[in-house]
Amino acid sequence: MKFQPRASHFIDGEYVEDTNGAAIEVIYPATGEVIARLHSATPAIVEQALNSAKNAQAAWAALSGTERGRILRRASDIMRERNYDLSVLETHDTGKPIQETTVADATSGADALEYFGGLAASLTGEHIPLGGGDFVYTIREALGVCVGIGAWNYPTQIACWKGAPALACGNTMVFKPSETTPLSALKVAEILVEAGAPKGVYNVIQGYGDVGASLVSDPRVAKVSLTGSVPTGRKVYAAAADGMKHVTMELGGKSPMIVFDDADIENAVSGAILGNFYSSGQVCSNGTRVFVQKGIKEAFLKRLSERLAHAKIGDPMDEDVSFGPMVSENQMNIALGYIEKGKAEGARLVYGGERIERDGYFVQPTVFADVTDNMTIAREEIFGPVMSVLDFETEEEVMARANDTEFGLAAGVFTNDLTRAHRIVAGFEAGTCYINTYNLAPVEAPFGGSKMSGVGRENSKLAINHFSEMKTVFVSMNDVEAPY
Ligand code: NAD
Repeated sequence: MKFQPRASHFIDGEYVEDTNGAAIEVIYPATGEVIARLHSATPAIVEQALNSAKNAQAAWAALSGTERGRILRRASDIMRERNYDLSVLETHDTGKPIQETTVADATSGADALEYFGGLAASLTGEHIPLGGGDFVYTIREALGVCVGIGAWNYPTQIACWKGAPALACGNTMVFKPSETTPLSALKVAEILVEAGAPKGVYNVIQGYGDVGASLVSDPRVAKVSLTGSVPTGRKVYAAAADGMKHVTMELGGKSPMIVFDDADIENAVSGAILGNFYSSGQVCSNGTRVFVQKGIKEAFLKRLSERLAHAKIGDPMDEDVSFGPMVSENQMNIALGYIEKGKAEGARLVYGGERIERDGYFVQPTVFADVTDNMTIAREEIFGPVMSVLDFETEEEVMARANDTEFGLAAGVFTNDLTRAHRIVAGFEAGTCYINTYNLAPVEAPFGGSKMSGVGRENSKLAINHFSEMKTVFVSMNDVEAPY
């Protein structure tokens, strides 16, 4: 098998196997073909990985930030050089079109390695004068062993978005990819070692939820960063709280996108396409509740349908294809189930709505109009190519409805009224907001959610605070006064 890795896990700088672990079959979503067979980590593998990360941590943290940064930046360069091969692997792991993976996966991972590699040398504490010559200084310290747990939609990106800031701060990591897409994180580990990372600094072990849970509850672990659904987030957050561990939670969403009458329709349609159908709709921050002001509703729907007819659906390895399969049969069935619910609850199907008759797990890009706030498709995260268009009349009304959700990952507004745009984003209950654009996530900007969508932020300088802590040192230059 062309994509079969040398072994399932990468621990202490080497590929490691334990065939006693439960089987994991890796399936190419475009054909249903098995492309690799791996094993879930046994308790012995979990032990080996945590020991390796623990043993490597002090020496890694003792390097200068410049040295750590150089290794991360070298890894970034290697990733860019191998972008095409890594993209082919990512396409087979996830089913996403090669047109997407060559620009959004290894490249995004490389950006994170480069950005945090660049920051590593400047991570410091500060000096705080207290008067009378006394002072405080703070030392920014690594947390220790960090666990990263990934979702299946952006496996390379997630492995790097968690690994790069963790390693820049002097932590070591045990990363568990999603069991659905286990292949590319192994490449990230290989590349880091090739770039000079000491063994044990970044380990990858495979497994289902139980392996993730055993990592989270281990006392050697100081921090857990999860990308996944809200139900998993609740469990992981609770387990981490038991050990008073630091957490970052990047969870699901049902984000609103508001299109006012005065918006540039072409841009709003582009935003709605990017925010609903990129990666076949399998993006956490998608704006799946598209509120369109009544005056432009029919024009918006007409243009959207015209543009969707140009989506080229097919073999994700064909560079002209812009819309691929969903990641798995299970995920496809979930999306088809929601489409049936949308029809049954009275939403008007204006585009798509069916499985595509060919091998693999293809679902048509689907648009429902006349969706109301209480319909299931407007309330629950679908994580598939299903857009709900809702009508609205006034700004006040739409603001309240946009925020009427337990989620708070992202939110967007399309309008040419500058003051209204800023008023709207000020009112959004969401961590990541967009004005006249949608779904950008460059490494320089914080990314993350509010409410049930998460805790903490990835990317940007803020991520450093989530992977390090401050030690405060009081220094007296005077005699110590005591009452007796
Ligand atoms: P999931 O919650 O089913 O699984 C996520 C990961 O958690 C997997 O690696 C899984 O094995 C692991 N896991 C499951 N149970 C666990 C447990 N009890 N303890 C520890 N680990 C456990 O999510 P998924 O289906 O892989 O991914 C889709 C979800 O991820 C969607 O809800 C999506 O919105 C979310 N997501 C969020 C972001 C973000 O940045 N906010 C990005 C991508 C995906």
